Amino acid sequence: MNQDDRKSELEFLNSLSQASRVVAAGRPERTPDAALNTPIELTSTFTAGGEVGYGRFGNQSWRALEEAISTLENGKTLIFPSGMSAINAIFKLLPANACIVASKNGYTGTMNILRQLEAAGAKVRYVDVSDTDEVLTALSGANFAWIESPTNPALEVCDLPTVINAAKKAGVLVGVDNTFSTGLIQKPLELGADLSMNSVTKFISGHSDILMGSVSTNSEEHLLKLADIRKFGGAIPGPFEAWLALRGMRTLSLRLAKAQENAMELAKRLATHPNVERVRYPGLPTDPHHERAKSFMSGFGAVLSIDVKGGADVADKACASSKLVTYATSLGGVETLWERRHRWGSESPTIPVNLVRIAVGIEDVEDLWADIDQALRKASA
Ligand code: PLP
Repeated sequence: MNQDDRKSELEFLNSLSQASRVVAAGRPERTPDAALNTPIELTSTFTAGGEVGYGRFGNQSWRALEEAISTLENGKTLIFPSGMSAINAIFKLLPANACIVASKNGYTGTMNILRQLEAAGAKVRYVDVSDTDEVLTALSGANFAWIESPTNPALEVCDLPTVINAAKKAGVLVGVDNTFSTGLIQKPLELGADLSMNSVTKFISGHSDILMGSVSTNSEEHLLKLADIRKFGGAIPGPFEAWLALRGMRTLSLRLAKAQENAMELAKRLATHPNVERVRYPGLPTDPHHERAKSFMSGFGAVLSIDVKGGADVADKACASSKLVTYATSLGGVETLWERRHRWGSESPTIPVNLVRIAVGIEDVEDLWADIDQALRKASA
């Protein structure tokens, strides 16, 4: 395909709705007998004279997935072998002594990276990302703001439009962890962020069978640097995993819609459950982040957290008592998972010990409710 054809194909893709883009993007050129799906390209090297050259630099299986995520995020995308490697690549863009603003309640893996960066000379200002005044104050003199929103697992929502706008005015680079929302619910780059990252492991691939990450950006400079970080860092995604992720992404819009619907229904019912102290889900009108989430997000996602009455032991017992819902970490798959987050010693001390995160899947909501309800009651009996 020549450059002009490629440009008009991208323009066409961008004219489509999101639900169509996730189905149509990343397909091979339509020539007679062309495959409908981009094949899994298993090769460590390429005949000289082309654009790629070597398996660590790229392949068509990566490119197809990158094109599809690009149409979701509205920016150019690179994939990485996990969400963590994508976040690490982003932090490599910064000088060792960078001043970073980040959530004090973020994903535990990210909190770990931040502590490593501090040990290597960076300064990290930990903030409550939902407290806009606190974030705006912390931006002064910072190099980078790393915003996870909604946060994992407390479901706090940052006022992304205000924070990104202020950061840009202050010359602060902004990266957003978009894992809980995906580009279907919010588009950080359109709001002005420099980098938008996804753990593709979660909703985008959607079947809990691979790990992968992505970074999207509209800056050619960042894109080139990130490509070099991947190329010479040497940690690269497998073509088979990229193919699986794209296969999963074809149904993202359907899966997310159903999982969100289930999450909303479960959140409403859990809010009046006798064994639940508190439900954290921005979709609930009573949630402190509801109005803000409604103002710039097009959905509330499919992850919620509950504080279980009776403390950590009861919460553990509940998680171990479900039959349909699996007691396991992770989120974004078709199957519902739950876990008490503090079972990991690394969870932030600001997260309550009795908090259980529920990663809602696409099962029948009545089956989910019956299972969660019996598990909570059994644990408290
Ligand atoms: N960001 C968030 C919000 C996550 O929940 C996770 C994993 O749970 C990651 C990043 C890391 O992604 P991965 O497990 O694909 O490395």
